[in-house]
Amino acid sequence: MKILKVLVVNCGSSSVKYTLLEMVSEKKVAWGIVECIGLSEAYYKRQSVNTDEKKDYMKIANHREAIELVIKNLFDEKVGSIVDNSEIAVVGHRVAHGGVKFSKSVLVTEKVKEDLKEYFAIAPLHNPANYAGVLAIEKVLPGVPSVLVFDTAFHQTMPDYAYMYAIPYEYYEKDHVRRYGFHGTSHNYVSQRAATILNESLNKLKLITVHLGNGSSVAAIEKGKVVDTSMGFTPLQGVIMGTRCGDIDPAIIPYILSFYPQQYKNSSDALNTLMNKKSGLLGISGLSADMRIIIKAIKSGNKRAKLAFEMLCYSVKKYISAYYGVLNGIDGLIFTAGIGENSPFVREKICANLHALGIEVDSEKNNLESSEERLISSSNSKVKVIVIPTNEELMIARESKICLDGV
Ligand code: AMP
Repeated sequence: MKILKVLVVNCGSSSVKYTLLEMVSEKKVAWGIVECIGLSEAYYKRQSVNTDEKKDYMKIANHREAIELVIKNLFDEKVGSIVDNSEIAVVGHRVAHGGVKFSKSVLVTEKVKEDLKEYFAIAPLHNPANYAGVLAIEKVLPGVPSVLVFDTAFHQTMPDYAYMYAIPYEYYEKDHVRRYGFHGTSHNYVSQRAATILNESLNKLKLITVHLGNGSSVAAIEKGKVVDTSMGFTPLQGVIMGTRCGDIDPAIIPYILSFYPQQYKNSSDALNTLMNKKSGLLGISGLSADMRIIIKAIKSGNKRAKLAFEMLCYSVKKYISAYYGVLNGIDGLIFTAGIGENSPFVREKICANLHALGIEVDSEKNNLESSEERLISSSNSKVKVIVIPTNEELMIARESKICLDGV
């Protein structure tokens, strides 16, 4: 019997990640990544329920070639997981930026593709790659519908006073400069899981979701709808991240420019690199963007690693406290993503001295190593603190299916 599947595709600026899932059971069938597209060290790493991990270095010039490679592997007679196109019910594409036009997932049409192009300028590294992925899938899987699932869509419920920036209004009207927020699929997924874990309808809950990975963001969610989120017009705003500075006084940039005119002359690229790639944990510690390395360094007495760690935790604590006020109290505080799921040290530091907000973490529960969803708050804690492994692929698969069925 033919089991219908969903293919989830995530095209980054130089990578293609994919997961093939069964529609009903939601089981992962095959998954992998093509990395360093266009570079000499390009490789393809893949695995399936029936095959062990395999990694090959090869020439992969662009996203189209990467997708052709993936599809060829999925259809391979010996190691593949699919026999013909009709087994794939839908392809779900993760798309970085949906701007103001896309407040929910959409089935791809010619009009949708045209609209997507409008946001190339806002997300120049990601949206063109996402678009290339859609075209490549259309070519290699003719007749299979594609759905776009946007990182920004879940945040489109924010009120105007939360998403506007206090700069002249024309930049909003003409150039769409406003807060959009990112990691929406992850915040959406963990908030839904939190409702299930708390055995309560999402409509009755006030939650703060903390996605802490290489990129990090915090969201305030009331009745399943985002009220505010820490990332902004781009993913640079908000809490301190692996290599991103998060919130800084914008006046710092022209000030730096005036001192280093040669280095940054007319180059928004160099300034963007400074703030996006050289700041955060890496910039402060001078050591690494990787929280595991930072924590190891703290244990061997590295003062700048300690400062970077404390700054990151403090910035998250401030957002939690602010959103607690915005929501007028919360029922649940959720930690997710690489750091949020795996670092008791970070969670403990962030939640320390938040008793006034009814947030108390049980140190034993917090230190328990696990990859499962788990409650880490003490029995006295008014707010339930929960660790929930995120699953963006599953969420994209579900959204794609819902979107397809709704047509
Ligand atoms: P992500 O972007 O969600 O993949 O998360 C990547 C981040 O998670 C990196 O900073 C990793 O150092 C961090 N991370 C993963 N495992 C651990 C761990 N056991 N302890 C601390 N940080 C971790």
